[in-house]
Amino acid sequence: MSDQKQRVTVIGGGLAGTECAYQLARRGVPVVLREMKPHKRSPAHKSDALAELVCSNSLRSDNPESAIGLLHAELRALGSLVLGAADANRVPAGDALAVEREGFSGAITQSLLSQRGVELVAGEVEHLPSEGPVVIASGPLTSDALTRELERHVGTKLYFYDSIAPILSADSIDMNVAFRQSRYGKGGGDDYLNLPMTKDEYYRFIAELKAGQKVVPHAFEEPKYFEGCLPIEVMAERGDDTLAYGPMKPVGLRDPRTGQDPYAVVQLRMEDVGGTSWNMVGFQTRLTWGEQKRIFTNFIPGLQQAEFLRMGQIHRNTFIDSPRLLSKDLSLKTEPRLYFAGQVSGVEGYVESAACGYLVALALHAKLTGTEWVPPPATTAMGALLRHVTGEAHPPDYPHQPSNIIFGIFPPITGRMKKAEKRAAYSARAKQDLAAWLPHAGVPAPGAPEHREQRSA
Ligand SMILES: Cc1cc2nc3c(=O)[nH]c(=O)nc-3n(C[C@H](O)[C@H](O)[C@H](O)COP(=O)(O)OP(=O)(O)OC[C@H]3O[C@@H](n4cnc5c(N)ncnc54)[C@H](O)[C@@H]3O)c2cc1C
Repeated sequence: MSDQKQRVTVIGGGLAGTECAYQLARRGVPVVLREMKPHKRSPAHKSDALAELVCSNSLRSDNPESAIGLLHAELRALGSLVLGAADANRVPAGDALAVEREGFSGAITQSLLSQRGVELVAGEVEHLPSEGPVVIASGPLTSDALTRELERHVGTKLYFYDSIAPILSADSIDMNVAFRQSRYGKGGGDDYLNLPMTKDEYYRFIAELKAGQKVVPHAFEEPKYFEGCLPIEVMAERGDDTLAYGPMKPVGLRDPRTGQDPYAVVQLRMEDVGGTSWNMVGFQTRLTWGEQKRIFTNFIPGLQQAEFLRMGQIHRNTFIDSPRLLSKDLSLKTEPRLYFAGQVSGVEGYVESAACGYLVALALHAKLTGTEWVPPPATTAMGALLRHVTGEAHPPDYPHQPSNIIFGIFPPITGRMKKAEKRAAYSARAKQDLAAWLPHAGVPAPGAPEHREQRSA
């Protein structure tokens, strides 16, 4: 590829930027990695090392029959820098992949600095380079100057807060309580699932919500909520009836079983086109995860057995409206030399960010070598994550929110199965489809003679 070789600038030496830079350089593409540390730090970053874990030292479950464990397995098969460093610095934590954080970041920093073709340049990037391919991997706490610069390039304001509502597994919702209906029969007439509440149930729920334990924000996350996106407990604090006139309003809905108008409803919106997971509309919250489970399962009718695929949260997060702005290869539609990776592209989590950095490296490598970009199959964790960022995993007008990897963004496996069986089926399907795709990532399929060498490269 030497004739077409172009140096890539990667901005941000976090989980996404380091993986992306390493995978590009390993494939012969020279990279300049620009990281503002140690000259400047976000309020959450403390160390000088690359790939710093700003909070927990856990990369979550390593069980390949969980969605995140499956992503671990896929990244291992791909020879990921981040997963390799995690395995080498693992500390005992049950089935979770937890790491000794200094060792983990140190190993990544060391590997990158000794990787041929990578140059590390320290200092804040305030303006994007005027030419050449650029990967923006500046994370949830992208510096202010770069945020303004990115807004100029993408043509819209970047999201600054992430207000995430819980997501529930469809088969855990009590369909003897929930009824399908849109307000006033709009749209398809039955686009939503509704959990009706009586007056007593509603006020009991409000009392629990107000008393429930909340997560205390970091100092730099001091709440500046958008009025249209307030946490439910903040609304409840404004008055016991606020939610009944807001996201829990019952207008335009009638319970077909009783023929009555409910006093209030919790509405659920389809999260994936297959309807295997449902989002609690307007239920962004700072309740602790334990309190969300306790209050929502005990005080919302129909959720007694609910399985939470994702919990509600609110935190500072800089990200773009990727489904509308990015092409399928994660480049900006209006300026295709710019790529977005990691949290700023609309994934959530350490491992997901690294995976996204890897995907960008593959797409960009394909472009620079004039070869076809073959994305991972949608049925793999890597493919599901890509489809989440590009919006393909969701209904067309779905408001984009960063997401962890969850089975809810995979093409659904339908049919009646126990939960464990379904997870095993997702995992087996992904494993088979990943193996067939690996050669497109420049990695020999399992069983091929070169496979062992490639993984340890
Ligand atoms: C307070 C907080 C707690 C979190 N806790 C967790 C957790 O427990 N588990 C989890 O999975 N995820 C957590 N996250 C999300 C986590 O940040 C991401 O999962 C992950 O770090 C994102 O990887 P990234 O590469 O996109 O960004 P980062 O890892 O943040 O890397 C971005 C890098 O870009 C650099 N940078 C920013 N602006 C510039 C600039 N202008 N010029 C040059 N460099 C720049 C930063 O210094 C940083 O090194 C947390 C996020 C925050 C903010």
